[in-house]
Amino acid sequence: MKIRTLSLALLTAMIWAASFSRVYAASQLRVVATAPELADMTRRIGGELVKVDGLVKGMEDIHQVVMRPSFVTKLNKADAVVYLGLSIEHVFLPGLLDVARNPGIRQDPDTQGCVGPGCIDCSEGLSVMEKPETLSRAQGEIHPQGNPHYNLDPAEGPRIARNIAKGLSRIDPARGADYEKNLKAYIAELEPRIVQWRKLAAPLKGVKAVSFHKDVCYLGRFTGLEFVDTLEFKPGVAPTPGHLETLIRKMREQEIKLIVREQQYDPQVCQWLAEKTGAKIAVIGTMANALPGADTFEKLSERNIRNLLAAIGKDPLF
Ligand SMILES: [Zn+2]
Repeated sequence: MKIRTLSLALLTAMIWAASFSRVYAASQLRVVATAPELADMTRRIGGELVKVDGLVKGMEDIHQVVMRPSFVTKLNKADAVVYLGLSIEHVFLPGLLDVARNPGIRQDPDTQGCVGPGCIDCSEGLSVMEKPETLSRAQGEIHPQGNPHYNLDPAEGPRIARNIAKGLSRIDPARGADYEKNLKAYIAELEPRIVQWRKLAAPLKGVKAVSFHKDVCYLGRFTGLEFVDTLEFKPGVAPTPGHLETLIRKMREQEIKLIVREQQYDPQVCQWLAEKTGAKIAVIGTMANALPGADTFEKLSERNIRNLLAAIGKDPLF
């Protein structure tokens, strides 16, 4: 009898828990984020109130992401979409949003700015670097609104997080206090680390370097690295023999001894350039998950600084 009563109680509890979790799950916001670090930040700020799907794998080149049908399904059902903006997602996001036909997360098809209330553009409030004089996608210019790679600046973390919290509160004001509380806790963890990373990065100040793609101006702003040129002929245009010859000359003349290779770009040509110039190569991630174990904004930030320091022989851990 006792066992039967106990079983009944257990069963009731299980049914109650199941129905509660259904109600709870139904009240979760469905959020789609492009870059993995944005997905992670959204989970930190939304906690159990959000269910987050990421679109882009960290090892991909964000300028070359292939659209998959599953992306459309996710976006069609989403309450919010979190993205870097400044057209960095231009090869996949506008097309997907067009097909997904979800007015809540609609973007302006020309500027990719927010239209729907669930559009969370993390570039809002950014002091944009390398903004071209004219707004056109001229040949080879894949950053027509200015450089969009601000996620490589560790100091941009709090601003990105605030944009995410603001967006979640906009579509879900009833739980705005929860998002605000989680945001404060996240920023309280992040800010002291930014101070530490600045100290850690000190030996990079004034060091001249070249990168593969033109995605390092914000990283340069944080670390003090002076990026002189790129292996790419123009943003998005592969290195040409003539450009590489000029680059070798420039690197020899200016004694540039650091090549920054973003993980997704051609290792062979970087190795070849290193052999020609005696420079060392630092591999960095341009998104979380690009490098093994660096699955959050914080880990991406620290790993990049450490890899840069290691390449100039200054990482205290090596
Ligand atoms: Zn780029």
